Amino acid sequence: MAVYRPPEGRPVSPHLPFGERRDGAWYGKSIISVKQFSRDDLEYAFGVAKEMREMVARVGSFDLLKGKVLANLFYEASTRTASSFVAAMARLGGSTIQIHEVHYSSVSKGESLPDTIRTLECYADCIVLRHPQVGAAAQAVEVASKPILNAGDGIGEHPTQALLDLFTIESELGQIDGKTITMLGDLRFGRTVHSLSRLLAQYDVKLRYVAPDILQMPRDIVDELASLGVEQVPHDRLDDVLPETDVLYVTRVQKERFEDPADYENVRGAYVVDGETMLAAKEHMVVMHPLPRVGEIATEVDADPRAAYFRQMENGMYVRMALLAMVLGKA
Ligand code: ASP
Repeated sequence: MAVYRPPEGRPVSPHLPFGERRDGAWYGKSIISVKQFSRDDLEYAFGVAKEMREMVARVGSFDLLKGKVLANLFYEASTRTASSFVAAMARLGGSTIQIHEVHYSSVSKGESLPDTIRTLECYADCIVLRHPQVGAAAQAVEVASKPILNAGDGIGEHPTQALLDLFTIESELGQIDGKTITMLGDLRFGRTVHSLSRLLAQYDVKLRYVAPDILQMPRDIVDELASLGVEQVPHDRLDDVLPETDVLYVTRVQKERFEDPADYENVRGAYVVDGETMLAAKEHMVVMHPLPRVGEIATEVDADPRAAYFRQMENGMYVRMALLAMVLGKA
């Protein structure tokens, strides 16, 4: 079976059981939901991502996936997810078919998602899919014989983002257990917090949800996490939880998901993290954001060493390199 192995000449990290336990476990698999990842899987993926980070720093790119082709199929806007997958593939020696603007593809002629997937898998070894409908990636898996990577299905999930978010928390704070994570902003429509909260449920964490009532975390997710014993408390004021917060995960109010623009106008700008917020925060708190930001974090925060959102997006490439290596392997 084709498996990921560190490039020749590199000592195998003592933390990475290459050639043992999990080698090949993800080969040929689709990634649709964070629910597919056990804590062991996460540790394995993060180990590979660290190797990727080191290798990019040392050699820039290498031929692990030489000859492999990725199709990047985006029915919704993207900067980071789309370009980090392209960069990840390029740094692993593979190439990408980019369908970033489906309006210029046969989708504009009325082609269905299943037919578009069937087409692209004739040319590519793996398809990254972003789509406005919840469940679109799962629907694609039904017709695909190649791995599908869910890059966001409407307000559903964004598993690769959640993995890079968790990787960032661990990189910034050294560990995830014992931390209080505060999610701020649009927890109702924000798919990144839906996936991240589910992943965090595998750790010993406290979750705080700060949002206006209409943008609170969906009931089904709260119930799911409660049944796993996760401590979750909703708030509407950031001040109430800031002093205990280790990770402040800020999100954009998802304008495109509102049916009534007036509702959006009522809640936009509800929270702004600025220099004053940072004065009241823990010395080692980490500020994260999946980006794009549209005013939720003042630019004056960027120079604060606790602002991790630019490091977070860089991590996205290493984590996506790891996922591609795990799914596409190397013969
Ligand atoms: N880029 C993230 C997403 O695609 C967050 C956002 O758009 O606000 O979900």
